[in-house]
Amino acid sequence: MSDSGADDLLDVAIVGGGPAGLTAATYLRRFHRSCAVFDDGDSRARWIPESNNCPGFPNGVSGVELLLRMRRQAGEFDAHFEPVRVDSIEREGENFVLNADGRQWRARSVILATGLSDKLPDAPWVEEAVARHALRLCSICDAYEATDTRIGVYGLLKDIASHGTFLRSYSEHVWLLPIDQDQDETDEALRAALGAGVEVLPAGGTLGFDGERCTWTTAEGTSVFDSVYPYLGCHTSAGLADALGVRLTDGGEIVVDRNQATSVPGLYAIGDVVSGLNQISVAVGQAALAATRLHNQLPLVPRAQPG
Ligand SMILES: Cc1cc2nc3c(=O)[nH]c(=O)nc-3n(C[C@H](O)[C@H](O)[C@H](O)COP(=O)(O)OP(=O)(O)OC[C@H]3O[C@@H](n4cnc5c(N)ncnc54)[C@H](O)[C@@H]3O)c2cc1C
Repeated sequence: MSDSGADDLLDVAIVGGGPAGLTAATYLRRFHRSCAVFDDGDSRARWIPESNNCPGFPNGVSGVELLLRMRRQAGEFDAHFEPVRVDSIEREGENFVLNADGRQWRARSVILATGLSDKLPDAPWVEEAVARHALRLCSICDAYEATDTRIGVYGLLKDIASHGTFLRSYSEHVWLLPIDQDQDETDEALRAALGAGVEVLPAGGTLGFDGERCTWTTAEGTSVFDSVYPYLGCHTSAGLADALGVRLTDGGEIVVDRNQATSVPGLYAIGDVVSGLNQISVAVGQAALAATRLHNQLPLVPRAQPG
C-alpha cells in the first residue's frame, strides 16, 4: 500500500485545493494519513492581486503565489492531487464514494473545502479592474489599502448601506452607488450610514472602468473612485454537502461544530464554504482543526520501523 494517498481506501478525501484544502493535506500527510486533494483549480484566492494580512508575508503576497507555495508544501509531504471536479459523493456503509471524471474513489472520511464564488458586475473589464485594485471584493481583506481614498460601494441599497458605514473608518470619502431606486429613509442601516457621513449617489447609474479607476455615470454626470466594492452576494459551493443531507444555513453555507464536523458523520467542512468569516487565516485554522480531529478519530496505524 502506498504511503501517499492513491490507496484503494483513502483515510481522507479532500475536495477543494484552495488554502483550506491544501493546509488540510499538509496536516494529514504529516500525521502519516493517506489523503488526496480533488481540485478543479478555481480558487477564490487566484483573484487576490496582493494580500497584506496573510500571516508571514510582511511585504504582501499574491493569491497565485500563495497557492503555489501551499501546494508545494503539501507536495513536500507527498500529498496526492487529482485535478478533477467531483460530481457527487455517496455513502457506502461507513465510507464515502467520490465520483469524478467517470471514475470513483473511496474514502473513510471527507473534508469539503469547496469555497464560494463572488457574484460580480456583468462587465468584461471586471478581472482587470480587480487586478488593478480599482474593484475590491473584500473590505476586511484590503480596505486598509484604500485608507483616505475615494471609495464607492455598489449594489442594492439595502445591502450596501452597512458596508458604507464599515468603510467610513477608513476614509472620509465614501459613496453608495445603488443599483435600485428604492431609498427607504426609515431603513436603520441607511440612516446609520448617512449619520456617519456616507453619501448616496443617484441610483441606477452605469458602473464603468477607465482602465485605471471605476466610474459611476448617471444623467447627472460621472464620478470617479479609487476603489469600488461591489456587494452582490455569492454562490456557495455546498451542493455536494446538500446532496448528502448536511445541515446548511439559510444562505446555503455549511453548518459545522467547533471541530468542523458537519451533521453527517465522517464529513467535515472548512474554509469559505462554511458559515463564518471568509479569510485565508480562518480557512487555514479550520483546516488544522478538522485534520487533527479526523486523525484522532481514524483507526490508529501503529508505525513499523522502516527497513
Ligand atoms: C479579490 C479577493 C481578494 C481577497 N483578499 C484576501 C486577503 O487579502 N486576505 C484574506 O485572508 N482573504 C482574502 N480573500 C478571501 C480568500 O481568497 C478566501 O477566504 C480563501 O480563498 C478561501 O479558501 P478556501 O480554500 O476555503 O476556498 P477557495 O480558495 O475558493 O478554494 C476552493 C477550491 O475548491 C475547488 N472546488 C469547488 N468545488 C469543487 C468540486 N466539486 N470538485 C473539485 N474542486 C472543487 C475550487 O475550484 C477551488 O480551487 C480575497 C478574495 C478575493 C476574491
